[in-house]
Amino acid sequence: MTAITDRLRDEITARRDDLIALTQALIRIPTLNPPGANYREICEVLGQRLAQRGFDIRMIRAEGAPGDSDRYPRWNILARRDGARAGPCVHFNSHTDVVEVGQGWTTDPFGGAVKDGRIYGRGACDMKGGLAASIIAAEVFVDLCPDFHGAVEISGTADEESGGYGGVAYLAEQGYFAPSRVQHVIIPEPLNKDRICLGHRGAWWAEIETRGEIAHGAMPFLGDCAVRHMGAVIDAFETRLFPAMAARRTEMPVVPDGARASTMNINSVHGGAAEQESDYTGLPAYCVPDSCRMVIDRRYLAEESHASVSGEVRALLDELKTSRAKFDYRLSEINHVAPSMTDRAAPVVTTVARAIEEVLGHAPEYVASPGTYDQKHIDRIGRLKNCIAYGPGVLELAHKPDEWVGIDDMLDSAQVMALSLAALLLDG
Ligand SMILES: [Zn+2]
Repeated sequence: MTAITDRLRDEITARRDDLIALTQALIRIPTLNPPGANYREICEVLGQRLAQRGFDIRMIRAEGAPGDSDRYPRWNILARRDGARAGPCVHFNSHTDVVEVGQGWTTDPFGGAVKDGRIYGRGACDMKGGLAASIIAAEVFVDLCPDFHGAVEISGTADEESGGYGGVAYLAEQGYFAPSRVQHVIIPEPLNKDRICLGHRGAWWAEIETRGEIAHGAMPFLGDCAVRHMGAVIDAFETRLFPAMAARRTEMPVVPDGARASTMNINSVHGGAAEQESDYTGLPAYCVPDSCRMVIDRRYLAEESHASVSGEVRALLDELKTSRAKFDYRLSEINHVAPSMTDRAAPVVTTVARAIEEVLGHAPEYVASPGTYDQKHIDRIGRLKNCIAYGPGVLELAHKPDEWVGIDDMLDSAQVMALSLAALLLDG
């Protein structure tokens, strides 16, 4: 294997300019999500390129998925190149969407400027740099090793930044991630080139509504204030739930360290009279609010469960029902994602780990993500467990102004990906 791994690495180094140009071309297509713009355009660019390299191209629209419309169709691309003989399929999955630009940029967010060994732009790090690296890795591999067995697949999918329902979830529902079709999945999310991400924490989103009774604001004792009831809920969270969550530590190698505890974000609180337009000059009407709603975003650990996480919140609310006069609530789940953790001994993990050691000269760090990503759909819908996130880019730069990806980091991780393909798809 030594001779071929050296040749793969040298050839990737030689394609530095191609890698830069491809990354820039992808950044220059503003695939903003929401609303989910230009998916077709980016799929065309990817499809034309990979078709020239002998890949079969499928364009798949997630018809009827959340967000899909004729104005903003959810297009996905799946490119596949079969080898000389039957064997396993290695799949690289990247999302093509990027989040809003936001304030604070000093470069054109869709310009793809190159400076000091970095490429700048929205999505450079998360994750068009990773997509470009996986394409270069796959192209070099099929060029240098045309007699490989099995198949190489590359997908570019929609909507990861809004849950992945018009992207990987849809493909998984259609059977594209069935373990009979795909055996190894690498998601080149920006986790740093020497880290293997095994999975992510779970997430539970819910809305809590407290109810009261409307009355004249000058005689609040004739009504029942739903906002004060919500205050009691927040107090119970502060004194009971938050300390309990902070005391729990997971065995999952979640980074950063703060996310190794259970966490919850209070996403929003709305109560009382609806807010008026900013140019409204009148005064508020004097009413006791009869409804207050709160959205919570609870991130949980592999050691917890959907039932324990939701049950704990419900128990606190039920307790308030007995301890607090006229307290009443409604709780509705908005969404739930189970935690996902690939076994450290899984073949894709050990293969990529060996490739990292060979390219970077040290063992990888194993991590788990605080937030969810498309692995959730590959695991839950696809029932495929041999899946990791591995790609170039500094995680902390994702979604920030002046986002960038390092060119050398992309080259190194492309080498890791190509060596992994060689290990999985070539004979000893
Ligand atoms: Zn991402």
